Amino acid sequence: MTEAHPSGPATDAPLVGVLAVQGDVREHVRALELAGARVRTVRRPAELEGLDGLVVPGGESTTIDRLCRIFGLHEPVRRLVADGLPVYGSCAGMIQLAEEILDGHAEQQSFGGIDMTVRRNAFGRQVDSFESDLHVEGLEDADRPFRAVFIRAPWVERLGADVQVLARADGHPVAVRQGALLATSFHPEVTDDHRVHALFVRMVEQARAAT
Ligand code: GLN
Repeated sequence: MTEAHPSGPATDAPLVGVLAVQGDVREHVRALELAGARVRTVRRPAELEGLDGLVVPGGESTTIDRLCRIFGLHEPVRRLVADGLPVYGSCAGMIQLAEEILDGHAEQQSFGGIDMTVRRNAFGRQVDSFESDLHVEGLEDADRPFRAVFIRAPWVERLGADVQVLARADGHPVAVRQGALLATSFHPEVTDDHRVHALFVRMVEQARAAT
């Protein structure tokens, strides 16, 4: 379990978990700490207790799903998402927040929460990875483009009416928000621009202030 260290964020900063069964956990921990959150890595259901928010990292969604079910994390995370906990998913994490997955494994289950259909590896079929300068709504200094890194990324094929599109690439939504849930097809955690994590930490603070 990683908790705030003495030189880290203030002790009253929101506590954000990073689901740590597989994927680029360390990068999210760093980005969240730089965005002002206290961070706890989560491998067991008990570690979900008391969190103000949760991040589902990029990685391999089929593996994240399989390990979450083995470790007993699937149901509790699904429940927290349904109950309104702020959750941010990047890439594989976006897939796990989608209500419906195309080109997933037959037995793959998501946590759901965002009323959308995503297709796994959709951008990846065209080109394995690429970078693009995007305008992402809701970021600080919004006029400054965000350098987005896509790696075997999903795209969104269907969006419910309650889902807000924050950014598009090649016409496809690649950053979306529904209530307290945020998802990006790209990986802000692998860059030094932490504005997406800062947006998420603000969402977590707002949700905490509202309870
Ligand atoms: N293609 C991966 C998946 O299906 C996602 C890739 C990523 O997170 N970079 O989970």
